Amino acid sequence: MKSYLLFALTGMSLAAVAQKPANPKPYAATITAADLKKHLYIVASKEMEGRETATEGQRKAAAYIQEHFRALGLAPGNGSSYQQAFPVYRDQEASASIEVNGKELNEIFGARGFEATYYLNQVVFVGDGLTDSTHDSYKGLDVAGKAVLIMPGKPNMNMRQRNRDAGSNFAENARLHGAAVVLYMTSTAKNPMSRMGYMYTEIFKPEAGPNMFYVSEAVCKAIMGEASFKSDSAAVKNGNAQSKIYKADILLQNKKSVERLESTNVVGVLEGTDKKDEYLFLTAHYDHIGKQGDVINYGADDDGSGTVSILELAEAFVKAKKEGKGPRRTIVFMCVSGEEKGLWGSEYYSEHPLFPLDKTTADLNIDMIGRIDPSRKHGDSTNYVYVVGDDKLSSDLRPISESVNKKYTKLELDYKYNDPNDKERIYYRSDHYNFARKGVPIIFYFNGVHADYHRPSDTVEKIGYEMMAKRAQLVFYTAWEMANRDAMLKRDIPLPPMN
Ligand SMILES: [Zn+2]
Repeated sequence: MKSYLLFALTGMSLAAVAQKPANPKPYAATITAADLKKHLYIVASKEMEGRETATEGQRKAAAYIQEHFRALGLAPGNGSSYQQAFPVYRDQEASASIEVNGKELNEIFGARGFEATYYLNQVVFVGDGLTDSTHDSYKGLDVAGKAVLIMPGKPNMNMRQRNRDAGSNFAENARLHGAAVVLYMTSTAKNPMSRMGYMYTEIFKPEAGPNMFYVSEAVCKAIMGEASFKSDSAAVKNGNAQSKIYKADILLQNKKSVERLESTNVVGVLEGTDKKDEYLFLTAHYDHIGKQGDVINYGADDDGSGTVSILELAEAFVKAKKEGKGPRRTIVFMCVSGEEKGLWGSEYYSEHPLFPLDKTTADLNIDMIGRIDPSRKHGDSTNYVYVVGDDKLSSDLRPISESVNKKYTKLELDYKYNDPNDKERIYYRSDHYNFARKGVPIIFYFNGVHADYHRPSDTVEKIGYEMMAKRAQLVFYTAWEMANRDAMLKRDIPLPPMN
């Protein structure tokens, strides 16, 4: 603006006044395979222990990211702190026990709920406990305040899929029907809950229950008798179970303590120039799924790759600013945690934003950009990225994304996961969704899944660093355009409902 006045006074034409946009290329070039590799060998190292939310490994990763932001000269995003903490609760199961008809059965694999003791003389068997187009497990039943017994039916959908609606989630369905207790039969001696004890972010709720107990076949047999167990469990598998009341004296106890923990989002800010009260977010999750015993899930691709890309993006924009070519809008670099638990960090941020969401022009989110999708059979497997969400919320997203890609990075932009009917539902599955549901336009960058996804074998030497640098550069060029263009992205497309 200052230069506009100066030029205007010297009588130059308006056309000459418009500032020639700075060339982003030299800064994009600082996002290198070597730098990404250097950071990733630390972020996905064994010292970080798989970065599980609310653990030492997560805190070490947060400290590393914070130190990088500080060293670059980014401002802390949360007052004087680079970290935004959110609460995490963890159940420490002291003991759960069950006695059937006076006999103690050491056959509870875990419990989820609150401290309680129940003296029951009946349970209501409700088959697989689900309600869908083919059947209603609770048809004609009133189970309010009662105990229900549930067996797994046909094994199929993954957890996130099941959680989509209440009828397809046995626990949620039991709650909706007012059941006080759920006995859920599991066939392995593995505690189905978190290795560390069940973790959650909300402890205060409008209502309690139901208390969940994961029990063995032996418990079910003790309650139902051998013959009924046999016929009823077969019926559940065949999808034609009939509800039934079983009489038995059942003493159930759940004793536990709740640990109060916390986790954090790490937030660094590069202040803009003439549009510094508008914001562009660049995000990735730095948490992963931790370890099982001594076996570490390194999470090099998921989402070490996104995390170190954010570090490099920050460095590139800082260098531009040092050379007088800083962004017009303020750029917020945010690495969130809790993603693997259910998008907790980004959810917390979107409910407790540090910068106004209506002044946040966009969120560019990166989750897994260091590998290739072996099931992608067309095109160049070393030169693509899945781009998700650029057809939603703002009609400005795709033209920007495609034009910078055409001009600079020349990757194959694959829109497979933009299909609202895609069963993977990628649009809803990473942190950008918490921006999208608040109306902030987003683009999500993703390489697809591979055999090492959520396994100890997701390690640093399997990453394609050159390809990853190119993908991160696409994010850089897109961010550059969004941070420097005259107008914020328009919000002209409604968010499709979650189906
Ligand atoms: Zn991830």
